[in-house]
Amino acid sequence: LQKRELSGQLFKVLVIGGSQVGKTSFVKRCVGGVFTEFYKVTIGGQEDCLPITRAFFRDADACIMMFDVTSEKSFTFCEALKQAVDTEVPGKDGNPIPCVLLANKCDLAQRTVQPGAIADFANALNFFTWMEISVKENKHVEDSVRQIVEAVMTKR
Ligand code: GDP
Repeated sequence: LQKRELSGQLFKVLVIGGSQVGKTSFVKRCVGGVFTEFYKVTIGGQEDCLPITRAFFRDADACIMMFDVTSEKSFTFCEALKQAVDTEVPGKDGNPIPCVLLANKCDLAQRTVQPGAIADFANALNFFTWMEISVKENKHVEDSVRQIVEAVMTKR
């Protein structure tokens, strides 16, 4: 993204999802673009890790939630994650922060999570939007960042 499109503003964007879905690869591709700092936090347990989760989520402006289209488990995990974000991360206006759902690894033939199911899920859980991407093939990565910026701007 062009710097001027961001008007010099700084946003905190969460990149969350199950393990091995491609979060690290995604952020690495974006470094030098809109992502300037990158902290990796692994949340192992559930309730017992909530204080850490809260600290990590604090003051976020938006969220990128990622799953792997070849992993049904990583997809269903997004439901609990989205609920956690909605309840734990009140945005600055008191409403939940905008979340973009990214269906990663769409380059792989052995996908098990189909677009129809993703669209229904994204609608039901109030995602700002959803997109299929391939971090590996650099497909729609920049578009997805553009979407998240748009989500933040729309909120303001
Ligand atoms: P994280 O645990 O969510 O941070 O996932 P990583 O970024 O470490 O990626 C996990 C594995 O998936 C690595 O072997 C990546 O090379 C691979 N990977 C990431 N994105 C893609 C993608 O779009 N397509 C494919 N085929 N593999 C990917």
